[in-house]
Amino acid sequence: MFELPDLQYSYDALEPYIDAKTMEIHHDKHHAGYTNNLNKLIENTYIKDKFIEDILSNISEQSIAVRNNAGGYYNHSLFWKIMSPDGGGEPEGELLQVVNDNFGFFDGFKDEFSKIANTHFGSGWVWLVIQNDKLIISSTSNQDNPLMDITEQKGFPILTLDVWEHAYYLKYQNKRADYVSAWWNVVNWKEVSNRFNNIK
Ligand code: MN
Repeated sequence: MFELPDLQYSYDALEPYIDAKTMEIHHDKHHAGYTNNLNKLIENTYIKDKFIEDILSNISEQSIAVRNNAGGYYNHSLFWKIMSPDGGGEPEGELLQVVNDNFGFFDGFKDEFSKIANTHFGSGWVWLVIQNDKLIISSTSNQDNPLMDITEQKGFPILTLDVWEHAYYLKYQNKRADYVSAWWNVVNWKEVSNRFNNIK
C-alpha cells in the first residue's frame, strides 16, 4: 500500500508563483488519484509489497495502467519535495560546480531546461538526471520517468518539473512559458543538492 505524502507546506505557500487552488487540486485530487489507482491495481499481485523504485525499474513487466499510476505516484511525490516557499536562487557547493561543468554556467542550464519544458509536446515531465557520471536534462511523456526500464534516458532524477496542463492551467492557461519561468522561484535547491550528494 502506498500512501499519499503530505505537502510539507500549505497550499498557498508557493504563491504567487503557483496558486493555492492548483496546489490543492493537484495534490488532493490528481496525486491522490494516482496513489489510489496504483493501490487498487497492485492489490493481490506479487508487486504489492515492493518499493516503488523496484516497480519502476521493472515497469516493462506491468500494464500501461500500472505504468501510468506508479509513475504518477512517484513523480508527484518528488515534485512536492523539490519545491519550497524558501526556494529559488541557485544551488550551492558541488552541485553548482557540476551544473557549471555540464552546462557552461547556471543560466545556461536554466535556459536549456526551460526550453525543453516549453517545447515538450503534450503532457509530461522535465528532468535533471544523474546518468553515470554526468548530469543530463531530459523529458518524458505522460507519467513516465528516468527510473523506468522503458525510458530512453535513464538515471537518477534529482529535479523535476510537471508540465501537464493540470499543473498550471488555472493560473497560466495556455502560457506554459510563464509557469516555467515562475517555477524557478520555488525550486528547493537544498533538497536537490541532498539528492545529488546522496547518490553520487
Ligand atoms: Mn501533475
